[in-house]
Amino acid sequence: MANDYHYCQTPESLHPLLEALKTTSCVVLGCEGVDLGREGGSITILSLLLAPLEDEQTKPYILDLKTLESDKPSLTLLFDALASGTILKVTFDGRRDGLALRALGYELAQSRCVLDMQLAMVMKRVEIDGETCEEQIERLRGWLAYRELEQHSQMYELIHKLPSLEMALIDIFEHDESHENIAEPLRAKTAHGIYHSSWGDRPLDIKYLEYAAAVVRLISQLYHRFHDDGMLARLTELQSATTRFLASAGKAEVEMYNAHRLLPLDVLKPRAAGPTYQCDGCRLTLGSDAFSKSARLMLNKKKERLCWVCRAVKIHEETNRNRYDSDGDPYAYDSDDDPW
Ligand SMILES: [Zn+2]
Repeated sequence: MANDYHYCQTPESLHPLLEALKTTSCVVLGCEGVDLGREGGSITILSLLLAPLEDEQTKPYILDLKTLESDKPSLTLLFDALASGTILKVTFDGRRDGLALRALGYELAQSRCVLDMQLAMVMKRVEIDGETCEEQIERLRGWLAYRELEQHSQMYELIHKLPSLEMALIDIFEHDESHENIAEPLRAKTAHGIYHSSWGDRPLDIKYLEYAAAVVRLISQLYHRFHDDGMLARLTELQSATTRFLASAGKAEVEMYNAHRLLPLDVLKPRAAGPTYQCDGCRLTLGSDAFSKSARLMLNKKKERLCWVCRAVKIHEETNRNRYDSDGDPYAYDSDDDPW
């Protein structure tokens, strides 16, 4: 059976892709690797699906960066083409992809025209579904202890949990019987024999290539549905929020404040005018709403000044540490399989 993707391992195999990028207006982008976006991590596969709206049969390009990495001129040509303001780049968790791609010299955060579907999901909940504050806080259950959320609910009013791709697909296609098992390729990766640590192996087993192709196809389907349902009507606003989302990544010195599942503050809406403060966790300069009064005024000089999100991340980490010290599994507390 013919592959339903193009596997690119040589500079020559990139030529059709570079040619196609000259006329495309939209690219879905996905990254795979080991400890992606984390210190010491590496990106090994870049998947690109071109013009997903025009032709659903288009085959994704799966780029083997372990072999292509040594061919800097070809990658420079590719990244220059992607940086174009005439190509819409559609990502899911572009914050992590942006950090991973930075290692290769491509600054997704500075690239024009990027749309993050993970962020679009949060915007949909808030602006289209009219999710209440209680429902928003409810999403944090399981990630944080029920008692903490009950007792300090006012500290979580601005905190949005970012969905995994699987959860986003389930949410969007919930009432669509024809897409009942849409998230199946992502479900229980280990059940399919996809191991996070093996993305650097070569030769890479075919099931990894199929998985990488499935991911960009699924992001494309999500984007397609948003497009068809008119949920991208405020595309400019969403793109501006995406720019803020990508720019927020990777500034923290302590890893846990970089890699987590919460939406950084002042991303959904631009920061309001007024005084600003720098968070000691994420290192973002945020408006006064992002902090408690005591954090703003630094009433306790021995404590760090943490924004609401970093405060929650710290509590989550402390809870995990206590809970999982015995078996050493730091991520088991999360219902989704991805620590981000
Ligand atoms: Zn912070």
